[in-house]
Amino acid sequence: MTAEALAEIERDCPACGSAGHRPVPEYSQGPWRMAACTSCGFTYLKNVPDYSRLVSEFAWEKTWAEEAKRRKSERSAFRAVDAATSFRWKFRRDAGARYLKVFGAGRVLDIGCGRGDSLPAPLIPYGIELSAGLQAESDPKFRERGGYVLLGPAIEKLGDFEEGFFDGVLMSSILEHDMNPRGLLTAVRRVLKDGGKLYLKLPNFGVSNRHVRGPKWCGFRYPDHVNYFTVPDLERMAKDCGYAFTQLNRFAPFSDNMHVLLTKP
Ligand SMILES: [Zn+2]
Repeated sequence: MTAEALAEIERDCPACGSAGHRPVPEYSQGPWRMAACTSCGFTYLKNVPDYSRLVSEFAWEKTWAEEAKRRKSERSAFRAVDAATSFRWKFRRDAGARYLKVFGAGRVLDIGCGRGDSLPAPLIPYGIELSAGLQAESDPKFRERGGYVLLGPAIEKLGDFEEGFFDGVLMSSILEHDMNPRGLLTAVRRVLKDGGKLYLKLPNFGVSNRHVRGPKWCGFRYPDHVNYFTVPDLERMAKDCGYAFTQLNRFAPFSDNMHVLLTKP
């Protein structure tokens, strides 16, 4: 497989749908072009890789990992995705305690569940995972606890669950990757019961550190981070999609990541 197999999609603003934009060359890298929406101000990657095609046509997580090893010296999409997958594997114990506190009990869906180590008992864990290898690993663990893991893209697989099925949904380091964040938030809302909670963790483009570090800020990953939300950007989109918005980390202006709770009223 060659880099040419990585088809690209050119998109309009994923926040407001406007085509109007100005280039942001200081935050662009190689073939990947950053843009700022002239209607709503949202910052996003203008051209994004078409992952759906790759997922359907290749056993990509293996192919890409091998490809990444071969292309170590090269800045390639394969390498970026390999890195994106491996960082999700890291389990943080205090995150588990936090999720338990937020969700309490019931059925919780972990989108991009990886190895399936994020949701502690007594939560009943469900997952959606894009990597066949990780789905094979997490599915038996979740089945032992009453849930299961579906393999495939998030928006598509959310359609397999009935409306109002979940007490909670976890999206940790997901929303910044999805080329259709608004569609994803809407699809998640459908599967939440009334009062259900969506816990979001994602890079905070509004952080003061980004102004200090500039293009070296840790939130930039090309091309796998395609949406660059500030807290107000996310609040606007969440409310448009029918959620109540609560910011969980109080020091967001100084935090590279934001933790946010969206509630279906
Ligand atoms: Zn916009």
